[in-house]
Parts: sequence; structure tokens; C-alpha cells
Amino acid sequence: AKSAGRNNFQFFDPKMNEAALERLGIEHALRLALGRDEFRLHYQPVIDVRSGRVSSVEALIRWQHPERGLVGPGMFIAVAEETGLIQPIGDWVIWNAARQLAEFRAAGIADVRMAINISAIQMRNSDLSVLASGIMEAYSLRPGDLIFEITESVAMEHPDETIRVLDRLRGMGVKVALDDFGTGYSSLAYLRMFALDKLKLDRSFVVEIGQDVDGQVICDATIGLARNLGLTLVAEGVETEAQLEYLKARGCELVQGYYFSRPLPAGQVVDFIRSRNGG
Ligand code: C2E
Ligand code: CA
Ligand code: CA
Ligand code: CA
Repeated sequence: AKSAGRNNFQFFDPKMNEAALERLGIEHALRLALGRDEFRLHYQPVIDVRSGRVSSVEALIRWQHPERGLVGPGMFIAVAEETGLIQPIGDWVIWNAARQLAEFRAAGIADVRMAINISAIQMRNSDLSVLASGIMEAYSLRPGDLIFEITESVAMEHPDETIRVLDRLRGMGVKVALDDFGTGYSSLAYLRMFALDKLKLDRSFVVEIGQDVDGQVICDATIGLARNLGLTLVAEGVETEAQLEYLKARGCELVQGYYFSRPLPAGQVVDFIRSRNGG
């Protein structure tokens, strides 16, 4: 009786129907987009605060929609995750980001790494380390060239599995960053067991620098935590000089944000890298 009630509700609620229809529409459109090669990657530089050089770039997906123009991931990643389409889309992202890195190398950019966002489903379903080793071989990449970013909440969903997956990746030389740090509920015990290289301090805390004491306390604590665990800290969403100076003064090594650059198409990010790293 309960499930029938739920069905009736769904059937008669025009709003829910609309949402379901819209989801179906997006799912269909995403399938077409894959076939039509409408996805693009933009790259946001991550800056070493001491030297001012570009340390890595983060690949961020966009959808070049024929009518709507450039659509951000906030509009479609959730549907892609719910429908499982994130699997083929995520594979596309990894292959294309790696190919782009190989092109950077061919263009004489020797020392910049490529960071790639990995979804929950990619962590669970595919043999990520097999994919990674195939890609590194295909593009002659070296250990340390690729950084996989997984969010804190995804890592903590199945922590024992996360430990296994990250151990395998580390064994191949892939670096791992814990993304959106501070927004999930990591226990310190797990943080030590995950084979991590970097913590990415979530933008929501960086925004509080100079505004809110509690937010600032979390920034300070995370910087200390990263140092004590021997991890490199990346501060996300740095937009102002005041935020940069605060983080720098406390020993944060890497920063990323609009203050330096928005995510850029490949050609523009090459110019940006050259202007900072020389060559
Ligand atoms: P994220 O991994 O936390 O990426 C950082 C997001 O913050 C990006 O948004 C970036 O454009 C934005 N950002 C960077 N600096 C600043 C700043 O100074 N101020 C502000 N306000 N925003 C800044 P974007 O590109 O819209 O991506 C949103 C999220 O979508 C990403 O968050 C990530 O979770 C997801 N995403 C993007 N590309 C991929 C992908 O290829 N695969 C997967 N699974 N997820 C992706
Ligand atoms: Ca990320
Ligand atoms: Ca993030
Ligand atoms: Ca985020």
C-alpha cells in the first residue's frame, strides 16, 4: 500500500513529473553529447606561492551545448552520477586530460602536473589503477604526472575500499589529493591510512579569511594538520590578495583561484604557464 501511494503521488504531482522528465531529458542529451564530442576541458592553474610558478593544472569539464553555449559541471555532473553516465564521461575526462598533458610536454612544458577529478562511481566500479596505468603508458607519462582528486565525502563513504584503491594508485605513482577538505567528516585515523599526497582546503573556508573567525580557525587548523601529516596543502578559491597573504604567512604552499586565473581553455593555459614558468 505504501509503494502504491508513492506511485500515485509521483504520478499526480506535476512538479515531480517535471523533474523526472527534465532528468530524462538531460540523460538523453548527455548520451548525445558523448557521441557528438561536445565535452570540453578547461584547466585552472595551481600556483606555488613561494616561486609564483604553476605547479599543476586542474582539468574541469564543460559541455559545449549547441544551443545553450558552455554549460558548467554544476548543471549535469549530478545527473551523470545518478544515471551512471559519469563512467564513460569520467573515462573521457581522464583520457583527454592525459592527452593534453602529453601535448604540454611536447610543447616544452616539463614540470606541470595534471589534476583530474574522480567521481564516486569511478572509484567503485572501474579498475581505476588499470585505467591509469594504460593511460600513463599510452602517453609516456611519468609517475607523479597525474594527480587524482577525490572528495572527502566520497573517500569516507567506503573508507576501507578507499584505502585499497589509493594504495594501488600510489603503487603506480599516481598522486592523490583529498578534495573539498573540511566539508566531510574524515576521522584523523582514516586520513593517516589513506595514501594521500595533498589536501585541498575547501573554498568555503578560504572565503571566511578576514571575515569570520571560526572559518579562519578551520583554515589554520587544516594548514597545521596537513603539515603534521606530511601532506601538501592546496587552498581552493583564492580570490583576494588578503586571502593569499594570510595563507602564505601560515605556510600554505599551493593556491588556486580566480585571484590568479579562472579555468582556461588549453591554448590560453599554455600562455599562462609560459608567462609564469618561462619557456
Ligand atoms: P571542484 O573540484 O571543487 O573544482 C573547483 C571549482 O571551483 C570549479 O568549478 C572552479 O571553476 C571553481 N573555482 C575555482 N577558483 C574559484 C574562485 O576563486 N572562486 C569561485 N567562486 N570558484 C572558483 P566548476 O568548474 O564549475 O566545477 C564544479 C565541480 O564540478 C568541481 O568542483 C567538481 O566537483 C565537479 N567537476 C568538474 N569537472 C569534473 C570532472 O571532470 N569529473 C568529475 N567527476 N567532477 C567534475
Ligand atoms: Ca577538484
Ligand atoms: Ca574542490
Ligand atoms: Ca567544491
